[in-house]
Amino acid sequence: MNNRQENLRKVPGITHLIAVASNKGGVGKSTISTNLAVALHLLDNKVGILDADITGPNIPRMLGISSGSLSGEGEGLRPVEAHGIKAVSLGLVLPPDTPVVWRGPMIASSLKQMIFDVSWQELDYMIIDLPPGTSDVSMTLAQDVLLSGVVIATTPQEVSLEDARKAVAMFDKLGVSIFGVIENMTSDIFGKGGGKDAADELGLDFLGSIPLSKELRIASDEGTPLVSSDTEHPASKEILEIARAIHERCSTMQTETSSIIKRELT
Ligand code: ADP
Repeated sequence: MNNRQENLRKVPGITHLIAVASNKGGVGKSTISTNLAVALHLLDNKVGILDADITGPNIPRMLGISSGSLSGEGEGLRPVEAHGIKAVSLGLVLPPDTPVVWRGPMIASSLKQMIFDVSWQELDYMIIDLPPGTSDVSMTLAQDVLLSGVVIATTPQEVSLEDARKAVAMFDKLGVSIFGVIENMTSDIFGKGGGKDAADELGLDFLGSIPLSKELRIASDEGTPLVSSDTEHPASKEILEIARAIHERCSTMQTETSSIIKRELT
């Protein structure tokens, strides 16, 4: 652990915080976050998802939960459970279609409340769906909270690869480890292989490519993540593979940390 990481806040009870980032909207970041969270749950983990896309929260719709369903008194807000995972989103607090017009500091403080003041209880993983871009939310998170790592979502197109490079540069500068790149919407239309090329060029791991798929879109629109309803679908299989790779990487990190602690104690 370096000096910078020692100053970061750890979230009690949560083993791994993993952020999903992209520098451009519409590349499927929320779709990936939701399905990845459910996939990690299917691999026998306790999982939560935090919708940090504060000005455009999509997670409630993708999980089929309605606004106003966040509950809890006394011991704080409790996450909503759906498809085996716990979820928190500003979209669950505000009436539908309320535009969020907050400025940076308010956004940053609401993000911290959703992380630290919600009673998440014990979780193996918290997936954080970041807003696109190098926004206040991403900066606040990376500067203040101890993340295990971040995954970068991109489409195979060059224009969005340029943007992905910017996101990578920001996390690098803030000392957050980047688990790798996921290519989404791989198809004859958008192309194939751009994500792998970008990962190679940036010296990052390539985690997998999720095909452009009508079933994946319909499932998200209907509020049941495809990974939850059809584990045999090619897109689900790919997402499950990606989840396995991330789980393996996090398990190795944990083993390394506990052996360092053991060494220091003996
Ligand atoms: P972002 O969070 O990056 O803005 P979303 O996850 O909201 O992107 O996805 C944008 C739209 O594209 C949604 O309608 C979603 O259902 C759809 N979508 C995402 N990934 C795929 C895919 N692989 N195949 C088909 N549609 C997809």
